Amino acid sequence: EQEVAEYRKSLAIRVSGFDVPRPVKTFEDCGFAPELMRAIAKQGYEKPTTIQCQALPIVLSGRDVIGIAKTGSGKTASFVIPMIVHIMDQPELQKEEGPIGVICAPTRELAHQIFLETKKFAKAYGIRASAVYGGMSKLDQFKELKAGCEIVIATPGRLIDMLKMKALTMMRATYLVLDEADRMFDLGFEPQIRSIVGQIRPDRQTLLFSATMPHKVEKLAREILSDPVRVTVGEVGM
Ligand code: ADP
Ligand code: MG
Repeated sequence: EQEVAEYRKSLAIRVSGFDVPRPVKTFEDCGFAPELMRAIAKQGYEKPTTIQCQALPIVLSGRDVIGIAKTGSGKTASFVIPMIVHIMDQPELQKEEGPIGVICAPTRELAHQIFLETKKFAKAYGIRASAVYGGMSKLDQFKELKAGCEIVIATPGRLIDMLKMKALTMMRATYLVLDEADRMFDLGFEPQIRSIVGQIRPDRQTLLFSATMPHKVEKLAREILSDPVRVTVGEVGM
């Protein structure tokens, strides 16, 4: 334990919550399947970034996580890679419809970036990802969602539109990510986020990532996450 504490300190990682899994030093430590290790190597990712060292084992353990680290620190892979593991771990509930992983992001640019990162890891397993955001034809998105997917990456407003149009159901969704939560609040998406969260089963795994942690984001996190582990890397603003 002393060694773990020192390792965290050397990386400027702070954690809070009960029974926090220890940080990893390598991707091998995460116990990923060979296909996933190959996909990681193909990205040129040699070792996990600091946030990944601590967030990966916690997310993989199934816990809810609040992850706070500055932009460019590699937060995306901390939720995308475990999402692939989560989907592959599902029992044969494939008769059901709708995405298993749902990622909300504040802007279409960011949703698109996450989509590209997701595809790199999903491809090896034939997992289908759909991107859903404004500026694209609603009819095309409707058709794509109707065709089925395991992952949806969306801006909150457009996801609500698609839910209203019954383009998808959330009955299979068990892995929810709110990325750049601070920016989603700044853009006024709190009501949409609450509506989306309210449509996803309460026994889901919920992850919230942010570069800063203002009080109102903290408050939402306390309401919608269960027994979360909070991981902070470096100094973080409010
Ligand atoms: P954040 O969401 O924290 O702003 P990103 O997830 O967008 O950061 O990652 C920033 C950059 O770092 C991206 O170009 C990504 O491909 C790269 N990256 C992520 N993880 C690793 C890694 N383990 N090794 C090398 N580069 C990485
Ligand atoms: Mg990011």
